[in-house]
Amino acid sequence: MSAPDLLAAAIGFRSWRIANGHLQSPYIPCRWDGRTMRAVCYDANRALTRGAGWLDEPHDSPHPDCRCGIYAYHSPGARSYYGEVWWCEGIVSAWGRLEVHADGYRAEFARVEALGVPDLGNPRLDAAVEAVGRDLGVPVMAAAALPAFAGELGDPIPPGLRP
Ligand SMILES: [Zn+2]
Repeated sequence: MSAPDLLAAAIGFRSWRIANGHLQSPYIPCRWDGRTMRAVCYDANRALTRGAGWLDEPHDSPHPDCRCGIYAYHSPGARSYYGEVWWCEGIVSAWGRLEVHADGYRAEFARVEALGVPDLGNPRLDAAVEAVGRDLGVPVMAAAALPAFAGELGDPIPPGLRP
């Protein structure tokens, strides 16, 4: 069973690129125009990996046989996106269809709950993260403060519901 019946939104951690004042998914060309995103399986995604792992027929996202959905990790700092200078970590809450994996999940809906300023000593990046947080109306804090803040927001998917 890949879609646990949760009573509350599942808290997760993830990273974004920051491009042109917006959050953007690190690996796919998907801009987060608002605080809440709904997963869509884009045809364009399939070209990224030559179609491997992606489902051809139309389907709701996320799907167990596809790679689509909004990704987040159960724990903070597990895998951040370090390939670009302009990135940040944050907290999301997720609901709807969930495909749960050992280290994280793929969700149908996810909402940004907080952003963390990376400890990179880059004032321009700090300002960019602050600006995105203001636009989205979410708190911005030091990345190191995210786990404690997440604990006040809610719970991750319980270990017993993970594969
Ligand atoms: Zn898909």
